[in-house]
Amino acid sequence: MNRRRKAGGFLHSAKTIWPWHESDCADMLQGAQEGKSHVPWNLRFAETPMTFAAVTILLWLAFVLSYAVWDVSPWIGIPASGIPYAFFAVATFHPSNSWLCPTITRVRGLREKLIALTFDDGPSPTVTPQVLKVLKEKETKATFFVIGRWARRYPETIRSIAEDGHEVANHSYLHPRHVYLWTARTLRRDTELAQRLIKRLVGTVPPVYRPPVGFRSVEMRSVMRSLGLRLVNFSARAFDTQGGSPQQMVDRICRLAAQGRIIMLHDGSDRTPEPDCRAMLTALPLIIERLKSDGYRFVTVSELLNLQAQA
Ligand SMILES: [Zn+2]
Repeated sequence: MNRRRKAGGFLHSAKTIWPWHESDCADMLQGAQEGKSHVPWNLRFAETPMTFAAVTILLWLAFVLSYAVWDVSPWIGIPASGIPYAFFAVATFHPSNSWLCPTITRVRGLREKLIALTFDDGPSPTVTPQVLKVLKEKETKATFFVIGRWARRYPETIRSIAEDGHEVANHSYLHPRHVYLWTARTLRRDTELAQRLIKRLVGTVPPVYRPPVGFRSVEMRSVMRSLGLRLVNFSARAFDTQGGSPQQMVDRICRLAAQGRIIMLHDGSDRTPEPDCRAMLTALPLIIERLKSDGYRFVTVSELLNLQAQA
């Protein structure tokens, strides 16, 4: 009796710990869509992490055998079996790595001193209008990587971004933080959903996509190709969602600024549509002023990519 209850407890906690468990995901996705629409797809393990896990198990077996049969030291075998995981971590989490999917973080070979300002995780009904006000005052154009489910909830905010002449780009529909575990089918559905929604709201189909948290997977390669999207990450970020003073943000961005670089800030959050972005809002006009006085011209990400093609 006790043992049975213990096993049930273990299974229950395993389900809670693993966010990609099908039933948990259904709840999570349904909650993310405010309970209005049901979830049209189920999640399964994607190929990338499964392949790395399989390679690791095979390496472990090879090292156990070599230790047992040829007396090879385990101090060689055990660290070496971590190699696939190190590869997986760099390829998935490093923002500028292109091993799994071509990733743009900087445009080279430009004739002018151009730089792109991007905002993630909006639209937010409280923060985005303030960002738009600063950009209008400073006569600066930017790119907004919006989350589909926020765009659907705040259509007026996303329309005002486009009306001010900024670029609206795809930052997924649900913003799954474990996007690198998604199958190509699930990823395509999420990306397409955001593409269709943005087209409906602002009339244009985004040509660029930024994955949630900047994480990549091998599945993104085919999804980007089939939807005609280019994956764009960033090469200068202020860590504006992790605290820090406005001055620290200004100093960091200005230190990292260089021709053709892509700056990432946040005008929203995947957790709440009304986040506290006061520090970023204080830093934003200072960043623009300082970079302009350094001779930079702000362009949208698509303009940056088009100018590269012409260069
Ligand atoms: Zn994001």
